[in-house]
Amino acid sequence: MHMDMDAFYASVEQRDHPEYRGKPVIVGSPPDQRGVVCAASYEARKFKVRSAMPSSTAGRLCPQGIFVRPRMEVYRAESARIMAILKEFTPLIEQVSVDEAYLDVSALAYERLPQDTAIEALHPIAETIKERIKHDCQLTASIGISMNKFLAKLASDYQKPDGLTLIFDRDRVAFLRPLPIGTIHGVGPVTARGLEAMGLKTIGDLQDTTLPLGEVAGSFAEKLKARAFGIDDRPLDLSDERKSISAENTFLEDTEHRPTLKAALKEMALDVAQTLSKHDLGALTVQVKVRYSDFTTLTRQTRLDDPVTSENEIYRIACFLLARHHLVTSPLRLIGIGVSTLVPPSSHQLRLPF
Ligand SMILES: [Mg+2]
Repeated sequence: MHMDMDAFYASVEQRDHPEYRGKPVIVGSPPDQRGVVCAASYEARKFKVRSAMPSSTAGRLCPQGIFVRPRMEVYRAESARIMAILKEFTPLIEQVSVDEAYLDVSALAYERLPQDTAIEALHPIAETIKERIKHDCQLTASIGISMNKFLAKLASDYQKPDGLTLIFDRDRVAFLRPLPIGTIHGVGPVTARGLEAMGLKTIGDLQDTTLPLGEVAGSFAEKLKARAFGIDDRPLDLSDERKSISAENTFLEDTEHRPTLKAALKEMALDVAQTLSKHDLGALTVQVKVRYSDFTTLTRQTRLDDPVTSENEIYRIACFLLARHHLVTSPLRLIGIGVSTLVPPSSHQLRLPF
């Protein structure tokens, strides 16, 4: 089962400000400032406003849009409340983001039932979850039910907002046929264009083709073919450990001014180091991210032998990555630092001298 809140940030704003209801609400930076859209209400989506779009573009597409600054603490608190509701139904939850989670509810559907009977048995449970969220939070969620993560997510997306969709085993191949290949998670625009050049546009085309896909899809080719038939054996990731920590900064004006970039990196390195220390973690991977004026975004990373924990180390590695990969060749719109492969910090400082 996959649960996804509908236009989450924008819906919270419409709930808390009745005067916004039925209106195009755009959560993000104001249109006359740099920065992007974090979320758009369904009314704003009619104007083709989408999240991650520059706010200036959103302002042009939807001049009557109500631009609202994000209130992250409010969304986080709401998210915790929603996840707590889900946990009443099953402890087996993989929270994917602030407003999205996979639930393994197979135990509730009596594992010995035939696949499609089990899916059907989950229908009233999903309805109850939706009602609880609506009642407790005055927000709507969309839920998809199927036998794996890939299909459950497609299902939750299928009838948004306030949707509830079941994809049965007997229907999965036909359900997938008309969908564009880009619907498959892991197919980026480059792969999609490559496949389209081979004459493959829909998932049905993928099902039918006998052409080798390796050249375009690389190591993903085998999985791609499996997904086309609705096969996905990824288990739920039930660990609630943090996987990465990052910080980024959009400049008021694009810049390649070294002292400005260095100051930004220092600040973000401190931010990341503090979060690491709060969770008592070190990182074996450090990544930098740059976005240029034309929105091209690059990331480069390095893997270390010993975990880093300090602001200085993170800062130094970030500078090294920028220099080594010649990333600052034109003004930057955004710069960011991320760390991952999080492990306990190495304890060599504490080792006793014998
Ligand atoms: Mg959502």
